[in-house]
Amino acid sequence: MSPISAMSGSRRLLSSLRDAMASSEPSQERLNKIVSIIASDFVAEVCSIYVLRAGEILELFASKGLAARSIHNTRLQIGEGLIGQIAVDAKPLALADAQSHPNYVYRPETGEEIYHSLVGVPILRGGRVTGVLAVQNQASRSYTEEEVETLETTAMVIAELIANRELLSQQELRAFEGQDILSHTIDGIRFHGGIGIGKAMFHERRIVVSKLVSDDPSIELERLNQAVMEMHGAIDQMLEAKDIVSGGAHKEILETYKVFAEDSGWLSRISESIDKGLTAEAAVEKVRNDTRARFKKQTNEFVRERLLDFEDLATRLLKHLAGKLGLEEQINSTKDFILIARNLGPIELLDYNRTFLKALVLEKGSTASHVAIMARELDIPFIGRAAGIFEKVETGDDVIVDGDNAQIHIRPTDKTQQVFLDTIKSREKQIQNYSTIQNLPSETKDGISIELHLNAGFLTDIQNISITGADGIGLYRTEILFMDSREFPSVKRQSEIYKQIIDQSGDKPIIFRTLDIGGDKGLPYWENDHDENPAMGWRAIRVSLDRPNLLKNQLRALIRASAGNNLSIMFPMITKIEEFDKARNILQIELDKIRMENLKPIKSIHVGVMLEVPALVYEMTELLKRVDFISIGSNDLFQFLFASDRGSTKMADRYDPISLSGLNLLEDIINQCKLSGTPLSLCGEIAGNPLDAMALIGIGFTSLSMRPSAIGPVKTMVRSLSLNDLKNYLKTIKYKSGHSLREKLREFAIDHNVII
Ligand code: PEP
Ligand code: MG
Repeated sequence: MSPISAMSGSRRLLSSLRDAMASSEPSQERLNKIVSIIASDFVAEVCSIYVLRAGEILELFASKGLAARSIHNTRLQIGEGLIGQIAVDAKPLALADAQSHPNYVYRPETGEEIYHSLVGVPILRGGRVTGVLAVQNQASRSYTEEEVETLETTAMVIAELIANRELLSQQELRAFEGQDILSHTIDGIRFHGGIGIGKAMFHERRIVVSKLVSDDPSIELERLNQAVMEMHGAIDQMLEAKDIVSGGAHKEILETYKVFAEDSGWLSRISESIDKGLTAEAAVEKVRNDTRARFKKQTNEFVRERLLDFEDLATRLLKHLAGKLGLEEQINSTKDFILIARNLGPIELLDYNRTFLKALVLEKGSTASHVAIMARELDIPFIGRAAGIFEKVETGDDVIVDGDNAQIHIRPTDKTQQVFLDTIKSREKQIQNYSTIQNLPSETKDGISIELHLNAGFLTDIQNISITGADGIGLYRTEILFMDSREFPSVKRQSEIYKQIIDQSGDKPIIFRTLDIGGDKGLPYWENDHDENPAMGWRAIRVSLDRPNLLKNQLRALIRASAGNNLSIMFPMITKIEEFDKARNILQIELDKIRMENLKPIKSIHVGVMLEVPALVYEMTELLKRVDFISIGSNDLFQFLFASDRGSTKMADRYDPISLSGLNLLEDIINQCKLSGTPLSLCGEIAGNPLDAMALIGIGFTSLSMRPSAIGPVKTMVRSLSLNDLKNYLKTIKYKSGHSLREKLREFAIDHNVII
């Protein structure tokens, strides 16, 4: 038994494997050859490959040395026996006397009782165990560290073959007959319901390493050094950028990043893997896999977060090695896909082909963020805070996103797919049911009418007025046109689009909100110095008043488009009355100017505000003298009321608008509007949740505006509600509950058969 020398042994082994892999023989034969080559290289009697199949089962796929009858018959649960143990720990195990190990499990069909020593390594891909590669010897042999490493490098090559479906078909990776446990399910938080089925696609494209075995390690080392130099240069450039030099959190992050990038341990581990025969890309990928597997065991959150830095660095380094890769190809995908991202901006979402984008999964995110709002408006099933999604999914995996139950099923069995296809069918039926109430009045059981309007932002949304039977558009987010353009849209273009919106809405009213950019809604063509706290920074009306041409152009376009029709405009983020006065003045100037254009006169003009900043509530008496209507933007109003970032994952469930403080604030506004006879509505996200909408109606709202898919469920709730009962109930619980009244209201709904 001559232990192999690590460097030359590994390289020799990889180059003999390369020939076996390249052959055109059937997959089983190629696998048989691979295990034979490894066994002979290791001077071992046995070499076996176990592959992880759906249902967390490790199946013996090929073996040199174990009995032929055991191949495809020996199956171990993850954690069962030494092989299962290697898979659970995601780390190698080398034992001179395997049979005396407490986890040893004897499988008679394999005939392995005569083999005493064992070395096994996990077959890792993307930090995920996809199988186990094991070598056994009859004699009691101590395997060297170098041998273990050689086996790990070999396992990485096998992992790619399995993932690339080169050796094993998709079918072979699926659950075997009778095994219908799901491959993997991840829980997240529901940001929008519905079901999406498609192939996994990462927003941050993962570079697929296709060439694994190098021809010449010295060339690969050279390539690595070059890429590392380029990467350092790029990080230095970012650090020198003028807005970073002045300091701040961004700078600190980049500096930490630089320390990691120069981490000699990380870089020398990559070089060692190149020495063993991998290409530079494969070596980066191998070290990334090892690091992931090690970090995964860490319970300390800070340490685990460091993994993200290494992940980003590995991706960066791979990009430098491979040259820049654009997103073009994936954006233009022509297959149904599930988009997976750590976080995503609303504009980035618009880049994807809507026809094929079936669902969205974020590792982080929050339900009140603009990307979530946009996804809801587009009715894209959406799950956020899906921890571990990046480790569990590979590009191209089959994925089912069950937005209703906030679950992501990865590589589901055919049976599971069928269950979801059936659910999609029954959902379609439910939507048809909503269409049966489309023309029925939105009225409580005790005869109170509740107006239900739509929130919209795309031209295609307008057809939802007739589909849902909504009363009109309570919030038209004009910035979406700006976000979906490559430059500021001209007055002409804006006017054409607004005219189409007005024409298509029939005689239903539309409230156009003027541009609300800034915050988490940047424009790719607009240079905007970033505020430390963008939601409270230079955004919405603040931008419009400081760049009056922007507002003038938009108002001119709206006025032209409304010739011969009604026009309702509201200004976002008004914080003090002077801001409303200034904006109203600009509108007046534009109206006066347009009189010269000889257009048909506008039938009526209504000008209102979005109430989104608590300070304005304390100027209501004056405000109510000036405005024609008010719409409450509860997404922003509550983020400012509770000092709780609407986009923060950690804040997401901490404060509830359906609480004493939240409802008291809203009731104050309702009362003041009632006294002055000013129409009031609410167009934040809560209006679209039947339970929240019930609470809002309970305190006196008679008009709400929501995403199109919410109209059916909210109208169903309204028609099953007795408002009088709810009002009485609210009086009894308001001061007796803790912060949130949600659970109490849910009990009320159940007891009174209100459909929420
Ligand atoms: C709001 O703030 O509630 C609102 C409707 O506006 P947006 O979500 O676009 O900020
Ligand atoms: Mg807002």
